[in-house]
Amino acid sequence: MTLTFEHVTLGQRVRFGTGKAAQNLSAEVDRLGATRVMVIASEFEAPIVERVSAGIDVALYYSDVAPHVPIEKAEKARAAAIEHGIDLLVCVGGGSTTGLAKAVAMTTKLPIIAVPTTYAGSEATNVWGLTEASRKATGVDNNVLPGTVIYDAELTFSLPPRLSVASGLNALAHCVDSMWAPRADPINQALGAEGIRALASGLPRIKDNPQDLPGREQALYGAYLSAVAFASAGSGMHHKICHVLGGAYNMPHAETHATVLPYVLAFNAPFAPDAERRIAAALGADDAVTGLNALRSTLDAPTALKEHGLLEANIPQAVELILPAIPAGNPRPVTAANLEELLRAAYSGTTPASDPATSDPTRNKEASHV
Ligand code: NAD
Repeated sequence: MTLTFEHVTLGQRVRFGTGKAAQNLSAEVDRLGATRVMVIASEFEAPIVERVSAGIDVALYYSDVAPHVPIEKAEKARAAAIEHGIDLLVCVGGGSTTGLAKAVAMTTKLPIIAVPTTYAGSEATNVWGLTEASRKATGVDNNVLPGTVIYDAELTFSLPPRLSVASGLNALAHCVDSMWAPRADPINQALGAEGIRALASGLPRIKDNPQDLPGREQALYGAYLSAVAFASAGSGMHHKICHVLGGAYNMPHAETHATVLPYVLAFNAPFAPDAERRIAAALGADDAVTGLNALRSTLDAPTALKEHGLLEANIPQAVELILPAIPAGNPRPVTAANLEELLRAAYSGTTPASDPATSDPTRNKEASHV
């Protein structure tokens, strides 16, 4: 069998070291020769920022951060960067904070150093997101890709266990979707599988003890791999569903991903046997769905969309919005009926299970990407 694929690797420097964020940031600012640094972080992230920026001169601290990057906030931040003659953006925080730095870089072309404090993974993608009149638009632009990412597991100690679990499962969803997303390839799949292994080993330790350093390091490492795989593979069925739910019904990002993931895995797994086996192996389980259910139960993960703002009455409209967005190459053909069934199960939180009767061995061969 021949192996043919095209893969794009985004250029990025990663500095990973516990307790080293301040030192690594100072070295990177020197390396870039920047003298007018704008540090972006929300007020919640302020105590972390103080530690991280201790070794650099900061021209502007900027804290007007909001979820999903409202366009007005982006324009205000862009104006502030220009007014202060900024030559480097440093963002310290979760995906919302990274998102604001990306919005500034989009128009100003300023370089970004990202210091992530959740497992969202935005720091490793060239994808931006902006919200205007309650509609979230996303796009790809290499100007928004942070040139350097600085990971320091100590900065995640303060992330509460519930949010750590949801954010970590959001990262795991990047890995799973990378197995069958439109540009899935053997490199994305290898990164995704290692990401699943790292997250599955780290998250239970964090759930038991939020200060567990090896657990935090594994989760952060897994989150990076997940984002690299996702950036290259693109959005699969899972991300298309969550993007619509988040935008149309104002649902929380990490919790929505954490809840929907097992239903998409159960839906696609019988039609993607290679991916299923890789996910199962990475989870250390006999089959992928059972392995993910067991991990989610250990983590006491979010289980039902009704607990995160979705109304049962929203489901028919959600089906209409999601269906046209599902990638044509999804392993299992998606119809309004089977999508509605998936959403109803995720809404109420029934245990996700693959239905062997839906398995189609002929299609399996076509659907597997390696
Ligand atoms: P978030 O950035 O909104 O953070 C969630 C909350 O956690 C915030 O209140 C934040 O202040 C707090 N927080 C962050 N780090 C903390 C820490 N270490 N300790 C204590 N509190 C902390 O949420 P998120 O899940 O990180 O990011 C979600 C956003 O990122 C969404 O808007 C999503 O669309 C975007 N995103 C974008 C991409 C991309 O490629 N562009 C990828 C993933 C996510």
